[in-house]
Amino acid sequence: MIDPTLLQGRGMTSQRTRDRLAARLRDEGITDPRVLEVMRTVPRHIFVDEALASRSYDDTALPIGHGQTISQPYIVARMTELLTEQGLPERVLEIGTGSGYQAAVLAQLGVQVYTIERIKALSEQARERFRALKLWNIRARYGDGSNGWPQYAPYDGIVLTAAPEAVPQALFEQLAPGGRMVAPVGDANRQELVIFERADEGIVRRVDSEVSFVPMLGGEQ
Ligand code: SAM
Repeated sequence: MIDPTLLQGRGMTSQRTRDRLAARLRDEGITDPRVLEVMRTVPRHIFVDEALASRSYDDTALPIGHGQTISQPYIVARMTELLTEQGLPERVLEIGTGSGYQAAVLAQLGVQVYTIERIKALSEQARERFRALKLWNIRARYGDGSNGWPQYAPYDGIVLTAAPEAVPQALFEQLAPGGRMVAPVGDANRQELVIFERADEGIVRRVDSEVSFVPMLGGEQ
């Protein structure tokens, strides 16, 4: 959990803007009070370049370099809500660390997070941010996440923040019984945010909404 004293000083200035962001997310349909509180707490400006800090609480995706983006806060909140609506998962695997913001949001909820990023510079930068915020419940590594992270499997939750055309089988195999995966699935023309659940009868699939994510690369994609 983020030490509250770390949110003083530079962070204090943005507390009001974070409050406004949380209010906006509520207006847009985010209802889970735990998720709204965590969106109010995690300092998104730490996860973007200083030059973009003034826009860091806008409800929009922003560039983080290397052709990648930090996801729109609404999407981060919605994916978090979908992952946690049946109760807080103990362990979540994230594919696509990017800036580290989604991982920080989950960690701040008290989840043990495992996150993989295929761009080394982004992975290293995110790890520095986790250290600076003392988010010790995030384990991050550089590499291709298409094969998941078998060493710590199974996971109660899996979240993909880059879109495959089809979810790699290895990720289904690493989902615990009763576990839930939230993933954007599709190509550049059309993607859907899909919730997969490992039920007794097999994988149950339901579509939440249309979304737009960067493609998941690597593996057989
Ligand atoms: N969760 C991120 C955040 O909060 O900033 C947003 C991530 S960005 C939309 C998607 C990320 O997925 C990019 O950084 C990209 O490099 C990464 N990515 C794409 N394919 C991947 C793969 N096969 N394994 C690991 N990371 C991947």
